[in-house]
Amino acid sequence: MEKIAIIGTGLSAMSTIEALKSYKKFQISVFETGSKNNIKFLKEKKTLFPNKSFKYASKIFETEKKKFKKLYKIQENKFFLSSVGGLGGLSNYWGGGVQIPNDDYYEKYKIPNKMQDYKKEILSILNLNKKNISLLNVIRKNPLYKKLNTINDKQISIEDLNISLDEKNIKKTFTTGKYFIDLHKKKKIKLYLSHSVKNIVQIKDKYELEIEKKDKNILLKDFDIVISCAGLIGSSYLVGKFHNEFNKKFVFYNNDIYQLCFFNKNLKTYKFNKFNKFQFPHPLKKIKVKYKNFLSEGSILPMSFLNNKILGFSKNNVIYNYFKKFLIVGNFFIDSKLSENYLKINEKGEVTVKFKKKKNSQQIIKKFKNIVNNTFKKNKFFSIPYLNFKNYQIGSDSHYTSSLYFYKKKNKKILDSNCKVLDSRNFFVFDSSSIPPGMFYPTFLTMLNAFFNTKKIIKKYEKNK
Ligand SMILES: Cc1cc2nc3c(=O)[nH]c(=O)nc-3n(C[C@H](O)[C@H](O)[C@H](O)COP(=O)(O)OP(=O)(O)OC[C@H]3O[C@@H](n4cnc5c(N)ncnc54)[C@H](O)[C@@H]3O)c2cc1C
Repeated sequence: MEKIAIIGTGLSAMSTIEALKSYKKFQISVFETGSKNNIKFLKEKKTLFPNKSFKYASKIFETEKKKFKKLYKIQENKFFLSSVGGLGGLSNYWGGGVQIPNDDYYEKYKIPNKMQDYKKEILSILNLNKKNISLLNVIRKNPLYKKLNTINDKQISIEDLNISLDEKNIKKTFTTGKYFIDLHKKKKIKLYLSHSVKNIVQIKDKYELEIEKKDKNILLKDFDIVISCAGLIGSSYLVGKFHNEFNKKFVFYNNDIYQLCFFNKNLKTYKFNKFNKFQFPHPLKKIKVKYKNFLSEGSILPMSFLNNKILGFSKNNVIYNYFKKFLIVGNFFIDSKLSENYLKINEKGEVTVKFKKKKNSQQIIKKFKNIVNNTFKKNKFFSIPYLNFKNYQIGSDSHYTSSLYFYKKKNKKILDSNCKVLDSRNFFVFDSSSIPPGMFYPTFLTMLNAFFNTKKIIKKYEKNK
């Protein structure tokens, strides 16, 4: 029986394990730096709009981030790092808006057809089943949503956004920590909590993991396969150390993010009544804006569809309940080509994460802002000063990708087409560091990539037996 080590318990690790289900011959160990503590997060009150960053103002987020920064000795330089550790990873902090890549994207990055064959499996993991899709269609028929369809123009399009609709939202599908605990209880995997992998060493055909467990360092040996699903920072760190790539730039992609907030006096006339039971925090409409060869995207929804709780207001807040009837809100992600971020690791294992503005980016962002505001104005949606196009801190979008996808060591790609690390026998990376850039919501592709490449590993083992 082959021993396989998986690092992390986020959505990419979950997708990997789902793909492994069909093959019983691996003994699976999952290592996670977090503990059960953050399961408490579920009981915490969530608010969506804190001051400076686009983050849930959650105490758990802050605590886990502190621990994460300590684990990797991270310095943020003009950058708000929104990667955190913790059981379940980032899945604890969002409600499940999944963008399924369109055909152009698959074509542009030559995503193999064989990978696309697994879309159905990922939709099923995400709970985007037929029942949910028909529910989405019912909600979309609400006149409040229909009103948004009118805002289509040459440079702007408003489209449906397919999202996973978990009725008990947030709690079930996207808190993957519970999924791992259940598998551990059923003895399908061995879950090692509070185990931080600090280094991966290949000795002949096997791997040793150097692990920090509380204040002790331990060594676990004899793994045949290692799969890193530790998130972009974690995987770049582990691959960088594996290859001694110190003081080199691991460039990654993320989006500068803005809040949208428009007023339309007619929105109030649309009654909410029978749709009340669907009140939930998911946007159903996507906004796409093109300018030259740049593309920015976001999502919008009538504010009446947002639970007061998620915004930190009480159910009975009269002033808020009145004003929200007139508003549509959303977020807007600027093309990732316009920001430049990288992380670097030094010999002491310290990490710096840095943001640098790209030349002309401000001018292009201004163009995007004008296109959006003018088109909305034409349709009688008026920009609310201060709230509309309020900029969040760079890095707070949490959608970092591709740090290892392009990375080359002495002209050789550090990952091959199976996401296997250069010069390794069986060390793979399946999180967002190994997917191509250009996704505004990278989770679907990250999961698809993890699922597809895990199936390839299984095929290889089946062939050899
Ligand atoms: C507020 C918010 C909203 C979002 N909205 C969307 C959205 O609408 N659509 C979308 O597609 N995406 C969204 N995302 C992004 C999405 O959450 C991530 O893409 C996805 O969860 C990443 O999953 P992952 O498994 O690759 O990484 P992570 O969730 O980061 O998991 C990494 C795991 O590895 C563990 N780990 C790290 N280092 C080590 C180590 N050395 N040893 C052991 N364990 C380690 C961590 O504790 C964690 O469990 C959002 C994120 C946030 C925070």
